[in-house]
Amino acid sequence: MNFMPLGGGREIGANCFILRINNFIIMLDCGRHPVKDGYESLPEIDVLERVDFIIISHSHYDHLSSLPYVLSKFPDATVFTSKENRTLALRILSNSVEVMKKKYEKDGEPVLYSHKDVKKAKKKIFPLQYMKPFELSKGLSLTLYPAGHVMGASSILIEASDKRVFYTGDISLSSQLTVPEATLPDQADIVISEGTYGLKETLSVNREMETHRLSRKLKKILESGGRAMLPVFALGRGQEALYMILKLIETGKIPRVPVYINGMVHVLTDLLLKEHNGMDPEKKAWFKEAIRRYVNIVPRNASSLIDDKRPMILILSSGMLIEDTLSYIFAHQILQESNSAVYFMGYQSPESPGFAVLEAFKSTKKLELDEEVDVLSDVDIFNFSGHASYPELLEIPRRLQPEKLIYVHGDEDALENLREELQYEFQIEIPENLERIAL
Ligand SMILES: [Zn+2]
Repeated sequence: MNFMPLGGGREIGANCFILRINNFIIMLDCGRHPVKDGYESLPEIDVLERVDFIIISHSHYDHLSSLPYVLSKFPDATVFTSKENRTLALRILSNSVEVMKKKYEKDGEPVLYSHKDVKKAKKKIFPLQYMKPFELSKGLSLTLYPAGHVMGASSILIEASDKRVFYTGDISLSSQLTVPEATLPDQADIVISEGTYGLKETLSVNREMETHRLSRKLKKILESGGRAMLPVFALGRGQEALYMILKLIETGKIPRVPVYINGMVHVLTDLLLKEHNGMDPEKKAWFKEAIRRYVNIVPRNASSLIDDKRPMILILSSGMLIEDTLSYIFAHQILQESNSAVYFMGYQSPESPGFAVLEAFKSTKKLELDEEVDVLSDVDIFNFSGHASYPELLEIPRRLQPEKLIYVHGDEDALENLREELQYEFQIEIPENLERIAL
């Protein structure tokens, strides 16, 4: 039995992990690297001779978005994901096809899969209910646990005769506004854990404090006649930020201004309201009504809105200002407005334009975004992540008591910091991509 990352080893990249168990090859997630393009963005699947099962934890780009490509190489693989995630995954994959087509027209980047491939994938994805063990083969079972994080997200428990292997996926032990908290199994022999917030600096921040800090800043910007953009991941932060902003408006903590969301945030919020069972019905009803009252969708031709300087809140994807996304395009203008603001909602990868904006704001106030931009607006970052906080990352192995703990999905210093903290309690491995670990 062994484990090997094909992406997401000592990085937050194209998450894809291989578990060889009872002669089966199980793939846990198959994402694409968030800031690489074309074939470079894929996990290292060329080393595989075969894949039997693919299990998708959730629908974020870095966990899902190479699935149709991987299936075109390994058409015999069967895919499992939670019932709550299946429709969502297919919707997001179709959107990825459109994004790739646009990029092909603009820069000639390869289109890795087509709508036809997504349709084929649809036939291979079997929905599973949370907490109901499913027999993959004799003596090998799979159970999905709710992982918090975003709607439909799962942690994955694989049980062979002599070992229980638990992969957290992206996980949150605390509940969010639109998603309930994760459920953990009682025990696991091997734990493969994410480590996004493995650095202690994030220790003191809690959601309430951050909401308060954001609302004070937003109030100031909006009252001075400026506008604020919140770049978000369309899935997860999109719904959380929208819910929070609407609550702040309704309770009078920030001025009643128009709120704009882009098409993908709208589609996924709609899916949350229609198909997801995790959210309290009363909260759901309130959310629906508040959206009807205050929220507009960014029109297809966004240029008039880009030039519209009235006070407003824009909740736009992508969360790290990835090139050519709507948040990137709006940032170009908003960053140059002295009374406006760009407020990030969570982690920015060091290679992302979002990270570059934060750096420029702290230093030269000059930035390269297609052309040189003077950063005149306010810029800040808030911790509204759907990932396990530092104390939660320590709590997970302490509750599960594994004989081996493997860290993936984190910047190197974050994962090493976790190792240092827990080195006397657990046997810890932090594999690189293509490094095989015996279990
Ligand atoms: Zn995620």
